[in-house]
Amino acid sequence: MPQRLAKALHQQIGRLTGAVPVDEIALALGIAEIRREVLDGCEGVLLTDRVRSHGRILVNMRRGLQAARFGIAHELGHFLLERHVLGLGGTFTCTQGDMRETRTARQHKRQEVEANEFAIGLLVPDDLLVPFLKMQPEISAAADLRTKLDISLEAATRCLVERHEEPVAAVWSKDGTIRYAIRGASFPWIERGRGQQISALSSTAAAVKRGGTGTSPMREVAPAAWTLADIPELFEQVRIGKDGQTLTLLWATLPDGSGQDVEED
Ligand SMILES: [Zn+2]
Repeated sequence: MPQRLAKALHQQIGRLTGAVPVDEIALALGIAEIRREVLDGCEGVLLTDRVRSHGRILVNMRRGLQAARFGIAHELGHFLLERHVLGLGGTFTCTQGDMRETRTARQHKRQEVEANEFAIGLLVPDDLLVPFLKMQPEISAAADLRTKLDISLEAATRCLVERHEEPVAAVWSKDGTIRYAIRGASFPWIERGRGQQISALSSTAAAVKRGGTGTSPMREVAPAAWTLADIPELFEQVRIGKDGQTLTLLWATLPDGSGQDVEED
């Protein structure tokens, strides 16, 4: 439903060649005002009335303009998705965690999942994403997608990981501690989660220890660095940002006959 709504909007907008004009779209659909401010403790707020005749969006720009574009699209999703129930005072107040909720989320987070699905559907039209899914899964592909669509590296990486045919996963960490991890449907389970330390066996741990910034090549790593699953090979690429935020991309080779192609749509 959220993706269908985003798709229907794109059919009306027509073919785009670059970044989706999210402000113009929101303003055309009944949002009267969009404000970008530096906020603490929340990423976005939607103020509206019960019948959603109009709305106002306030979005955090602390994490950059690209993350703010995602926040606007997320709040627009709440505004347009009729079944979304307003909080006290006719508002949605959305946290950074809300803007990450994916399919595995608990039931009461369903609205956040749907707002995120709408936001991705709106900011990342299929026809512009597909060429990137045909590239090798590498951080440079995510970085190019980010530039093309003016979305955050985080959102671009999420799109690639969730939609790529290859079994890939991404882990975000800071100073060796995992913030969160996502994986494509065919990637084996990642044993480590939020708040845990990165394995000393990983290329990420070695890169963090070395210090500095930049992106490593995709290199083979012991699968045990990330998963207990019995897989023939695992490759790892690391990007360390200026702020110490680390993105790890994992690319698995699955055993023969593991039914990898079953995951394809
Ligand atoms: Zn929300």
